Amino acid sequence: MVRPITFSIDIEAMRHNLERVRARANGRKVWAVVKANAYGHGIENAVKGFAQADGLALLEIEEAQRARETGWKKRIVMLEGFFDAEDLARLEVLDVETIVHDRWQIELIRTTPHQNLRVHLKVNSGMNRLGFDPGEVPGLIDELNAIAGVKVVGIVTHFANSERAADADDCVSLNAQLQRMKPLLGRTDVELCLANSAAAMLRPEAGGAAVRAGIVLYGVTPDSAIASSDLDLVPAMTLTARILTVRDVAAGESVGYGSRWTAPRDSRIAVVACGYADGYPRAMPDGSPVWIAGKIAPLAGAVSMDMITVDVTDVPEARPGVEVELWGRHVSVNTLASLCGTIGYELLVSIARRVPMVSD
Ligand SMILES: *Cc1c(COP(=O)(O)O)cnc(C)c1O
Repeated sequence: MVRPITFSIDIEAMRHNLERVRARANGRKVWAVVKANAYGHGIENAVKGFAQADGLALLEIEEAQRARETGWKKRIVMLEGFFDAEDLARLEVLDVETIVHDRWQIELIRTTPHQNLRVHLKVNSGMNRLGFDPGEVPGLIDELNAIAGVKVVGIVTHFANSERAADADDCVSLNAQLQRMKPLLGRTDVELCLANSAAAMLRPEAGGAAVRAGIVLYGVTPDSAIASSDLDLVPAMTLTARILTVRDVAAGESVGYGSRWTAPRDSRIAVVACGYADGYPRAMPDGSPVWIAGKIAPLAGAVSMDMITVDVTDVPEARPGVEVELWGRHVSVNTLASLCGTIGYELLVSIARRVPMVSD
């Protein structure tokens, strides 16, 4: 008997979301960002679901190799480039393009032989994390192009703020970030790739020749204030588990570690086979939504390592063996994430290895 918890991946939803992004990209190429095992959805599923994307963007050379082994023949770009000489040597073998964000990478490229190394220069537009100052870039392009077997094919930047309102003055606005990039925006000798999900979906003025979309391809919005349906997106991941038992709890009795929740009335409590060791955040407060038999029922009591407890007093259908949705189409990861002080991205990538994946 296996423990009754799984997460399922809807590849058709991934295809649908890619079409939505493509429509918003308005002629720009679409790179599908599949880092962190495709935001927890599996590289193999991403290769199927995003077959119509122009390229895959990811982080680890092992994931690039998995994508190639799964049959991905189009472009792949490494979002942080290579991490050492060994990594660099594998790029051309796998026919993978690389971002270059620091001088040490250029020096390593200079001191190794190349046949066909394609480089995207990363530009710092205000995040102050990775990338060169915009003013350095024209010189660096010439410098790299002068190395045998090396060609600069793109310029990328990653916005610190693309989901904020255009006039937000508490941060470097998208317009200010674009302004910093301005000397580079007219270049046609390289592919300009500027927008992430938020900018691709909501900020057409971000422009560029290509977009890099991540979270929206999985059907989740980059901002919890926007519902998936607002952007016609369908969540691709659903985390489900079954009810192990249902117990009557008298008014005044409490439930779970620390007796955090106390029954305000005679109640029925469903114990569900999902805990923080599965990736359901321990920080979820009482009242957090759990989808059971077509209704939303509130979490009641602290999340345990392997179980949660849910108040199903108003869900008469709840009984052992009934399947519940922890997140997916009915309970959005962003809603849960907001309730426990994080973002949907973190929940998607946090499903534990012990939870089996099923995909259609
Ligand atoms: C993760 C990432 C993206 C995708 O971000 P989303 O908000 O998921 O669209 C794009 N570009 C870079 C450099 C990234 O690291």
